[in-house]
Order: sequence, then C-alpha cells, then structure tokens
Amino acid sequence: MIVGFVEHEGGQVLEASLQAITLGRRLAEQLGGPFHAVAVGADAAAGADRLGPFGVTSVHVVDHERLDAFAPAAWAQGLVEVIEAVGAATVVAAGTERGNEVMAHAGARLGAPMAANCVDVAAEAGDADGSLRVTRQRWGGSLLEDAELAGPVRILTVAPHAIRAEEASASVAATPSVERVTPALTDADLIVRVTGRVEAGTGGVSLAEARVVVGGGRGVGGADGFAELEELAELLGGAVGCSRVATSLGWRPHADQVGQTGTRIAPDLYIACGISGAMQHIVGCRSAKHVLAINTDPEAPMVTRADWAVIGDLHTILPALVGAIRQARTAATGVP
Ligand code: FAD
Repeated sequence: MIVGFVEHEGGQVLEASLQAITLGRRLAEQLGGPFHAVAVGADAAAGADRLGPFGVTSVHVVDHERLDAFAPAAWAQGLVEVIEAVGAATVVAAGTERGNEVMAHAGARLGAPMAANCVDVAAEAGDADGSLRVTRQRWGGSLLEDAELAGPVRILTVAPHAIRAEEASASVAATPSVERVTPALTDADLIVRVTGRVEAGTGGVSLAEARVVVGGGRGVGGADGFAELEELAELLGGAVGCSRVATSLGWRPHADQVGQTGTRIAPDLYIACGISGAMQHIVGCRSAKHVLAINTDPEAPMVTRADWAVIGDLHTILPALVGAIRQARTAATGVP
C-alpha cells in the first residue's frame, strides 16, 4: 500500500504534489497495490476530485479543531496515524520545504528511513514489500545518487519540477472516497505552528508555479530598484524572484529567493537581471525552459548559460523593455 501526502491551498492541490503523486502512482502500478492520499485541513476534501484522475482511490482528510494552520509535528502525527491505520509501506510527498519537514517528523516518529528530493523510484525485482531503489538529487541537484531505501515503512519526497505531473490512464483513474481522520494531538505537537500570514503582493502568481519569473540580484542596487522588475513581471503576468544577496541585504523577503536555499522555479521564461549565476542560484532555476540574462558582464556565468543575453545596465534596459512591450500592446489592442 502506497500513500501520497498532498499539499494544497484551500483545496487547490499544489503542482509539486501532483508531480509527487504521479511518481507514487507509477510505483503503485508496478507493485499492484492500492494508492491512497493524505491531506490536512477541513478544506482538503475539496481537492479530492483533482486526485482521482491521478489514480488515487481514497483521500484521508486529517482534521482537528487545533489544526487550522501549518504545524509540522501535528501534520506528521496525523499522517502517521493514517499510515498505521491503512498499513502503508511507502509514503511519497513533494520535496517542498513543508513536504520535507513533515516527512522528517513522520520518519522520526516511525523510526522509518527517508530519502529527500528523489527523481525516480522502483521496487527491487521480486521484492514487493521490501526495499526501494531511489535516484535522488544531492548537492543541490548538481549530482544524482542511487540509493536503497529499506524498512517496513519507506518515506521519500520528490524534487519539485524533476518530473511532469501526469494523469493516469482512464482504467486507473477513479473517484476517490473521502475518509476523515481526527488525530490525537498533544500540546507538544503544536509548539511549532504558523500563527499569522502576510500575503505577498504578487498578484496571486506564486514564484514556484509562475510561467514568467523576473529575478533580481546585487546588480539591481537596492530595494527600490526592484520596482522596475515588478513592473515588468506584472506586464508579463509573472512573479518577481531574487538571489540570496538580495534577501541577505534585506531588499526582498526570503520567500522571493530562488536557489538551493530558496524556491526552485520552472517558468517558461526566466529573466535574470543583475544576477551573476552562482551554482547555488542556478540550482533553483535550471528547470526554466528559457533564460534571458541582463547583465553588464558578458562573462558572467548567467550570461554564458542563458538562451539570450542583453549586455548593459539593467536600469537602462528594463525601462526600454517595459516601454517596448506597452507600445506593442497598444498597437495590437488600440488600448493605451
Ligand atoms: P553577485 O554574484 O555579486 O552578482 C551581481 C551581478 O550583477 C554581476 O554579474 C554583475 O555583473 C551584475 N551587475 C552589477 N550591476 C549591474 C547593472 N547595473 N546592470 C546589470 N547587471 C549588473 N544564492 C542564491 O541566489 N540562492 C540561493 O539559494 C543560495 N544559496 C546558497 C547556499 C549556500 C550554502 C551558499 C554558500 C551560498 C548560497 N547562495 C545562494 C549565494 C551564492 O553563492 C551567490 O553569492 C549569490 O547567488 C550571488 O548573488 P548575485 O548574483 O545577486 O550577486
């Protein structure tokens, strides 16, 4: 039995979770067992219909009056109760910050091994209940490692954007049943929990899922300089990202950071402005389909890796780019 741990926003399943569920279902097809999902929060049931086409036959909704916000140990407790109740041998989750944190807690509670940021998994031939072979990203994704995951319960997370989310064939897709679970929580489970949220002014486009990301680094020169990037991102319906230098200097919040210790992005277009392209940054944007670098240094690694580059001062180039896009739109629509 395989269980997929699903993250959602108000019942809207995250793309990274659909990618993880895709890998979990492929393993379930190989092993021939049922494939269930676990999601936390009263509104999680709204996402059940989205999971059916991915081969999930039952969704366990973990809900509790004290579970109205993210609390990693409490979420893990709910997950562990489901694992034990259904006898799950493998748990698959997205390799997001939350996914990795909750799985680490669950692994500690169960004494089970966990492999983070996997890109592939297979059961050992003829060993349906035993060990798994996983391929996982190491060193920020700069190398791949084959490893064995053995034990009565095996936990793995899937590196975001490493595989495509794919629905199952019609014969596997089902309408999942929804089972509610009220976990036995203690005060200790709720010591670490989210107590408040401040919505980022991204206009609703999340960095991890944006089709266009406009990233800024030290070359932007200060917090105010990001206004030009925000204007371009808004015009293109995208999100603003940044390098760690920009967060360390307090120009942008950590939530905007792209890279090894930030968000991994996979946009159709990444416009990297004043970012040198250090390996720790590249790790976060290597899944971008196309990269446009804007930089004063023609030898900067970001420039040499990019599909296109404009060499020059971003404070000259960005206003020109924004002006050209506005002009083209006006010409096409007649709306100034
Ligand atoms: P710089 O390397 O200083 O580059 C600035 C660039 O701007 C240069 O290429 C310059 O030519 C260009 N420039 C300057 N002025 C202009 C202008 N007016 N117009 C156009 N271009 C201009 N970094 C991350 O980004 N994400 C991470 O998650 C991350 N994790 C890390 C984890 C660890 C453990 C460590 C050790 C480091 C990590 N880093 C991370 C930091 C990383 O090594 C680099 O230091 C950082 O990415 C550099 O940021 P930058 O490109 O903005 O700055």
